[in-house]
Amino acid sequence: MAGTYKHVVLVGIDGAGNFYKKTNSPSINALFREGAGTDRCLTSSPTISAECWGSMLIGVYPEVHGLTNSIVETEKYGKQDHPTIFKLIREARPDAKLAAFCNWSPINTGIIESDAKVYLDTGDDEALTDKICSYIISNRPDFLFVQFDSVDTAGHTFGYGSRKYLECLSAADGYLGKIRDAVEKAGISDDTLFIATADHGGFGQSHGGDSDAEKYVFFAAVGKTVPKGTTVELEVKDIPAAVAHALGVPGSDNWSARVPVGLFAD
Ligand SMILES: [Zn+2]
Repeated sequence: MAGTYKHVVLVGIDGAGNFYKKTNSPSINALFREGAGTDRCLTSSPTISAECWGSMLIGVYPEVHGLTNSIVETEKYGKQDHPTIFKLIREARPDAKLAAFCNWSPINTGIIESDAKVYLDTGDDEALTDKICSYIISNRPDFLFVQFDSVDTAGHTFGYGSRKYLECLSAADGYLGKIRDAVEKAGISDDTLFIATADHGGFGQSHGGDSDAEKYVFFAAVGKTVPKGTTVELEVKDIPAAVAHALGVPGSDNWSARVPVGLFAD
């Protein structure tokens, strides 16, 4: 099954919710302008990192993947019936270049299967960005996943939506812009589906609940078959179906992920 795209880049900003509208965020705004998106992408419940990243990478709700922060921090994931998108791509494409650059390293060690043969790296958001850009230019990966963490840390420390939180979100937006530039420099932008989103938002200095600020996140995607300026309907658990559809990789029989309505013209 041939895909529409040779490459997919998925950048997740932990704890970003849909707060980008409240701060300077030219890179996210450019994705909305050049592609399709929504501010009402529903994440999983509870609105906690492992639960939500798990849904984004596995395509099922937390009660199915069973991941929690303490589990991903101490155990390896490997449910055969519920593979991550990395494992699905690996099974379809033995030679695919897959990479994950996660500031919160339990995603690398506790969600992504070790036998999916994914290039893994970790570090603070800024250092990670430099490594990601070099990696993209040298390797032109089939699928690259990024998790930035500084925004969520700022939310817990200073409050979600606070001035310092929003400054952090603007900085993350800048990292996102550098990654898009790297895709351009690598000469693969025409053949790349580029997605940016978040795992959850936050309220006060925490998250986990069901308030709008916690459960709705932004989602924006740009690619040659993505209609410009349109609104997409999806949940975070649908994202792996978008990735699989773009690359032409069969999805999992057991997931709840659906290709987002309005994302692709094809
Ligand atoms: Zn999180």
